[in-house]
Amino acid sequence: MILYDVIIVGGGPAGLNAAVVLGRCQRKVLLFDTGKQRNRYSHGIHNYLTRYGVLPKYMISLAQKEIKKYGILFLKREIVNAAKQRTGIFLVKDSSGTSYYAKKLLITTGLTDKLPALNGIKRFYGTSVFHCPYCDAWEVRNKKIGVYAKNKNGFELALSLHTWSKTIIYFTDGKKYLSAKESDTLKQYKIQVITDAIEKLRGSNGVLRTIVMKNNRQYPCDALFFVNGYRQQSNLVELLGCTIGKKKMIITNKFQQTNVHGVYVAGDADKDVHFVVIAAAEGAKAAVVINKELQKEERLNRISLLKYQKAKSDKEYIK
Ligand SMILES: Cc1cc2nc3c(=O)[nH]c(=O)nc-3n(C[C@H](O)[C@H](O)[C@H](O)COP(=O)(O)OP(=O)(O)OC[C@H]3O[C@@H](n4cnc5c(N)ncnc54)[C@H](O)[C@@H]3O)c2cc1C
Repeated sequence: MILYDVIIVGGGPAGLNAAVVLGRCQRKVLLFDTGKQRNRYSHGIHNYLTRYGVLPKYMISLAQKEIKKYGILFLKREIVNAAKQRTGIFLVKDSSGTSYYAKKLLITTGLTDKLPALNGIKRFYGTSVFHCPYCDAWEVRNKKIGVYAKNKNGFELALSLHTWSKTIIYFTDGKKYLSAKESDTLKQYKIQVITDAIEKLRGSNGVLRTIVMKNNRQYPCDALFFVNGYRQQSNLVELLGCTIGKKKMIITNKFQQTNVHGVYVAGDADKDVHFVVIAAAEGAKAAVVINKELQKEERLNRISLLKYQKAKSDKEYIK
């Protein structure tokens, strides 16, 4: 049985940055990933200093090369089970049933956005259909921006987007989930609310041009931002018994530790702003804390070994 210092599940910015830090601490690390980083459909990363517009898959490929330098073992496999054994050692299993063991476990499996069921949306997702204004609104500033919120309240998103453009149209695609006060505020900001049903999104080469309604009306739009929620990419933390908070976000302390000793969570999976730079920073922070914890345990083990050896030699002397 190989016992790793750390197993990391999830090879996005959080997991990869943790791997770099742990590798530089000469830790024996095994990293698993299924290649489904949340922003893999995006046209380019924003809000990450010096990386403007870099394709997510390019950034990931650079990071994958970098971790090799530190001897990190990288496996493209899905982890489907994780448990803490009575000995305190963690056991994880991949989808083929193979087991792996580690002293510490870092979960960086991220989130997945729920795409609205809109005809044609996949052709535009990540290039002109988005969920996060901070990530993508600057590129469409002062253009015609749509907000899509079916069976949801998109008030905050619509109002927020007003920072980037004064031409906002809010599509509810059916029933309006807005209070009278919210409707009134939107009116004050000249944000039009359209409740007609949407037929499809139209455009080409990933560039949205028009929202086509079932009643044949058409609204020119350069980008569409939606509210539709997200979900955790894996249920490993649930299997491990970690505490889960509001909106299914995993609760960690400021050191990325969960309530289960030895299990750490970093990146989008825990509650914080969902940015690449923050995921990477949390991964780095978790790695430092894990290394410190391992150092402490190693010192304690050494002290008990020395005590044992001394006790043994004293006994032998008495004899
Ligand atoms: C369209 C879009 C555009 C975005 N644009 C930006 C932007 O411009 N700037 C910005 O800062 N942020 C942006 N984001 C947010 C950004 O994607 C996330 O903040 C970031 O990816 C979080 O990193 P992470 O490491 O926590 O998770 P992820 O990058 O999602 O990585 C998680 C990894 O875990 C793997 N995984 C999951 N479960 C398992 C399992 N059981 N076994 C093995 N592997 C597993 C997945 O395959 C995935 O590779 C955008 C998001 C989207 C959807």
